[in-house]
Amino acid sequence: MPDVLIQNARILEGGQLVPAEILIEDGKIKGISKEFRISAYDERINADKMVVIPAGIDGHVHFRDPGLTYKEDWYSGSCSAAAGGIATVLEHPNTLPPVIDKSGFSQKLKHAKKKSVIDFGINGGVTNNIDQLKEIWRLGISVFGEIFMAESTGGLNISNDLLGAALSKIGELDALACIHAEDESIRLANEAFLKNDNEIDVHSRIRPNVCEEVAVHDCIKINKDAAVPARLHFCHTSTPEAVKLIEKARKELPPESNASRITCEVAPHHLFLSTKDYKQLGTLGKMNPPLRSSEDAAYMIQALNSGLVNAVASDHAPHMLYEKEVPMRSAPSGVPGVETLMPLMLAAVRKNWLSLERVIAVTSRNPARIFGLDRLGKGSMAEGCDADLLLFDPKNVVPIKSKNLHTHCDWTPYEGMDGIFPGMTLSRGDVIWDGAQVIAKKGRGEFLPGAGMKTDEDGKIILEYDDDDEE
Ligand SMILES: [Zn+2]
Repeated sequence: MPDVLIQNARILEGGQLVPAEILIEDGKIKGISKEFRISAYDERINADKMVVIPAGIDGHVHFRDPGLTYKEDWYSGSCSAAAGGIATVLEHPNTLPPVIDKSGFSQKLKHAKKKSVIDFGINGGVTNNIDQLKEIWRLGISVFGEIFMAESTGGLNISNDLLGAALSKIGELDALACIHAEDESIRLANEAFLKNDNEIDVHSRIRPNVCEEVAVHDCIKINKDAAVPARLHFCHTSTPEAVKLIEKARKELPPESNASRITCEVAPHHLFLSTKDYKQLGTLGKMNPPLRSSEDAAYMIQALNSGLVNAVASDHAPHMLYEKEVPMRSAPSGVPGVETLMPLMLAAVRKNWLSLERVIAVTSRNPARIFGLDRLGKGSMAEGCDADLLLFDPKNVVPIKSKNLHTHCDWTPYEGMDGIFPGMTLSRGDVIWDGAQVIAKKGRGEFLPGAGMKTDEDGKIILEYDDDDEE
């Protein structure tokens, strides 16, 4: 018997919203039809004409757990995601300890399994741990990175020489390398040159567009020269210069390779905020890469629309208000964003900045493909796929307010901006957000192993890591 029948819904079909019912069995989509005419099911959800799309996949979050759980932890972070219509996250390695070896991976997996209300992948870090990369890949990390080319939170940045060695190893493993592209020498030179400059926008001038451009250029070249080039994904690209270089590199790929070997994403703060917002945000607008001009932000929206940019990811990087409200130079970089990603994107559809079709592509289908989550049933609202769904009323535009959000850090850079929040979020057929509260059990989220996870001859996963319950 099916578990859930969603009635009175609307879905996007051929560019139109059409009435639909969705049948869910064992957490997976069993069928989508105009009308099912069945009477036996466990639970009926009246969607009340809400639009149903795949729940978001946020490929870039920092949940700070283990180590910095006063900022966020797997429970608060995953609740924030659920309330924002995100049912899958990839969590990045710069925690304490970082995920750069077996012990770091095991500790993070233990915390996540105990607390996460949504499904998750764990990324593996790259420092001077080249000899550990194969082992963490076999343990089941999703992808490598973000690999920091310049200093940022966590201090995991590496030299270009080390980057070359790492990319070659990642290429050998046929894994994906996710790159935080900022050039460290430009950053250092500007830091010294502007050391007496205390203007509010100085952070954007220490890390100007060229800082990203040079790093993207160097990374593509270093990868090309590697013994076995890796698949590359550029995190949070923020400038026309970077996007154009990436497009050029895609075109120059040898014909036998596939253009998906170089992909990129953009963060909502590089679409919906700009250097003009420093005046109001002050240090709350500090992140890496930094805020760009409003012309650059407009370009990034256009590049997302045209397909040059493949995905959106929040780079959710919470810090407490008291940590942020200090002079610009000493404030930590990073803003929360996992709960506002989908609401901002859906509000952008309402404003005709993006089509709903494109939003679905960049928030679920493409991230699933890029990060290899499609092989686990993620990212598509098709028969047999996980029933990870977001239901929303396109007319319900509300101002974003930090008091309504679920992150530990209690502030948002998008305060007062328009958002369309989910009326409901489902994860594998379970309602985890009902429009008013998170109703998911702590620890219900499942680990999504990466493609390198070791299996036995029958394809069964061999769990090699320490998976006990001790603290
Ligand atoms: Zn980053």
